[in-house]
Amino acid sequence: MISRVLVANRGEIALRVIRACRELGLQTVAVYSQADAKAGYLRFADETICIGSAASAGSYLSIPNILAAAEIADVDAIHPGYGFLSENAHFADICQASNITFVGPSPDSIRTLGDKAAARSAAQAAGVPVVPGSKGAVHEEADALRVAHEIGYPVLVKASAGGGGRGMRVAHNDMSLRAGLQAASIEAAAAFGDGTVYLEKYLDRPRHVEVQLLGDKHGNVVHFFERDCSIQRRHQKMLEESPCPSLPLEVRKKMHRVAVKLLKSINYNSAGTVEFLVDRDNRFYFIEVNARIQVEHPVSEMVTGMDLVKEQLRVAAGEKLGYEQSAIKLRGVAIEVRVNAEDPEHDFRPSAGEVTSWNTPGGPGVRVDSHVYAGYYVPPYYDSMIAKLIVHAEDRKAAIARLARALDEFTVGGIRTTIPFHRRVLAHAGFAAGHYDTGFVEDFLAGSAV
Ligand code: ADP
Repeated sequence: MISRVLVANRGEIALRVIRACRELGLQTVAVYSQADAKAGYLRFADETICIGSAASAGSYLSIPNILAAAEIADVDAIHPGYGFLSENAHFADICQASNITFVGPSPDSIRTLGDKAAARSAAQAAGVPVVPGSKGAVHEEADALRVAHEIGYPVLVKASAGGGGRGMRVAHNDMSLRAGLQAASIEAAAAFGDGTVYLEKYLDRPRHVEVQLLGDKHGNVVHFFERDCSIQRRHQKMLEESPCPSLPLEVRKKMHRVAVKLLKSINYNSAGTVEFLVDRDNRFYFIEVNARIQVEHPVSEMVTGMDLVKEQLRVAAGEKLGYEQSAIKLRGVAIEVRVNAEDPEHDFRPSAGEVTSWNTPGGPGVRVDSHVYAGYYVPPYYDSMIAKLIVHAEDRKAAIARLARALDEFTVGGIRTTIPFHRRVLAHAGFAAGHYDTGFVEDFLAGSAV
């Protein structure tokens, strides 16, 4: 049983978790850094505790500070949200040792899946197709060259501990591979404290399609269909939708089946996502598992009518799913856009500062997840996402019209946001037709997206 939850995160996801807890009748403890003392999510928690400095290393990433807060507030569970400590196996271990339920998968699952090279091996063992590449990590330059010659250039050097699009380098020949190995390893060592890398074939303009899943502690795993997240800039997602507009039903069904099989094979018991890349012939390849709730989870909530965060809390408390796969139905289309405090007119440079006015859209089928209010100061220290706008409608055409309408209603004063960029993407004929891949945004920004 869980009765009191510390939310070890900030911003919209902290509020999202608090909302789920309140609906379940659980008490909440919110934490904040010195830069977040006035953040909107703090108003809705039963208790709030300052956990340190503006820099996240001294607050949201500090295990001692968070555990001290958990002890003072006497909680029996910690929800890590996404980012920060959400996929830190050591943190999950310590929670377990302190008799605090970590609302996420077991430390072992996090360990296996957090190491992308190990996750690839687990996928292969479960019979899931992976992007051609090295068997595990590559430690020697000579091994990397051999693998590259086997699979053929171009190849992608990826960090085993990677995330957020960091620690990746494309190589087109031996020379750029040598340089890429070094650069990716140094970047990964600096960002993740682990410079281990592996190789994958660099696919030509793939689509990114991922399956949302949920497992319990009794061996049950179900899926909540897929999301297309191909609208990306520099390997970072900007817009997500469900269902995938460009894949035939049989391919999508097969993807769901193998994703369930993979998570069952490793006894996965929380919310998680299996990510795939899809080539032009609609063949799909596993890339990684995200062992946490993701930013884009509301898309799947809107098309299935389920509350994934409440479900995640329920299974963390040891409850059974209590329903079969057949009970989860996909209805209509949902699209999410990430509203970032960035200036799309100037290469998406960060735009921190005071939000002087804030008018969010409403009406049928519109959901806004945000911790921002008029007068809020967007601090420069954290991720630039300040809101998620999600719409749901009976079909894709109606969803696009609804999203365009909602974006027109969404006005933000004082800072620049990605709202105008999203308006332009929605108006693009290629997007409207559902014909897009991970190269779309780059072409679009260069003026050549078709
Ligand atoms: P991260 O965990 O850093 O987000 P991912 O492995 O999820 O990294 O990849 C992020 C994005 O990078 C993918 O959605 C895709 O656009 C691109 N990508 C990753 N692997 C490949 C590949 N082998 N070929 C082409 N693009 C890739």
